Amino acid sequence: MLSEYLTHVGRINVYLDPNTTPHPKQVGDIPYSLPLVLDKNDPIVAVQRDDTLQVVIRCPPRIQNFDIKVPWKGLDFDSNLEQVVQCRYCSGKLASFFSCRDLPSANWQELMDCWACHVDFPAALAKNGGMPSFAPTKDMSYSGISFLLLHPNSLENSQSYEKDSSMYHCPSCQEQLGIQDKQDVPESVRLDKSCIMINGNRVHPSYVVTSELLTLRELNAVHKFCLTDQCNTLYIWCFTPYLPVTFFNSPNITASFPQSPVATIKTLYCYDPPDNLQGDDWQDITLTPSVFLEIKHLLELTTQSFPSSAQKFQHWYVGLLPRL
Ligand SMILES: [Zn+2]
Repeated sequence: MLSEYLTHVGRINVYLDPNTTPHPKQVGDIPYSLPLVLDKNDPIVAVQRDDTLQVVIRCPPRIQNFDIKVPWKGLDFDSNLEQVVQCRYCSGKLASFFSCRDLPSANWQELMDCWACHVDFPAALAKNGGMPSFAPTKDMSYSGISFLLLHPNSLENSQSYEKDSSMYHCPSCQEQLGIQDKQDVPESVRLDKSCIMINGNRVHPSYVVTSELLTLRELNAVHKFCLTDQCNTLYIWCFTPYLPVTFFNSPNITASFPQSPVATIKTLYCYDPPDNLQGDDWQDITLTPSVFLEIKHLLELTTQSFPSSAQKFQHWYVGLLPRL
């Protein structure tokens, strides 16, 4: 079970076990932490339903936090120090670099095409030798929203993609760690931030995927996404981009996200293509098979945190993904 703070409407929903007795009459009677600190004496109303005792608490609305935090940005690295990249699955050393710069927005190439149509811009481009290539070097990597772009010489044994493959596999455990994009510069390898550790630290894949999803959402005004590992697809609709929640009795979730409240995005997701699946309204986010499974599992786990009557909306399931 959980409680959720609908920041924009100023309401907290608390879903308690349906057999909870006595019914709580004030905030202090709720035996779990809430996503917002409230006066313990505030009166509340509990509504008995078949599958939950639901408590609705009116509270101040809050301006939503639209800052999208991206894990492992260029400035997060001290360029005087060697940064060591390891495989998240087997801890094998993958690469090292010193400095890191941020790549422009995810679809900068398309934007560049637009700008290049402007009469003044080709001159500026010509003066600077054409389009910037954002090519990593042995010591300098680039940081995208969800991946690092490294020069093959930064990698252990300079091992790049396998021949005729766009997948980068860990040389030690063979787990898939990155997927090449056709617009990447030739001398580069992508490592998915979900699949690596840097200096022994890791970032939960949910943070990486939500950063990408929220960035694309803001950039392209698209709310629906096809999460795919190129064999399987989940259709996911970002319903609420910022929803603080607290989980009760959910050890599987709180083990991964011990801080409370947990900032999440609330999604609707489904397994079969929706009837209105049209190219322009949906955007693909390609994940490695392991990350895809992890995100799918997390969505299904969070669905179970809602009472059964709140788990589905038509053919969509309600799920949460923790965000930074
Ligand atoms: Zn490995």
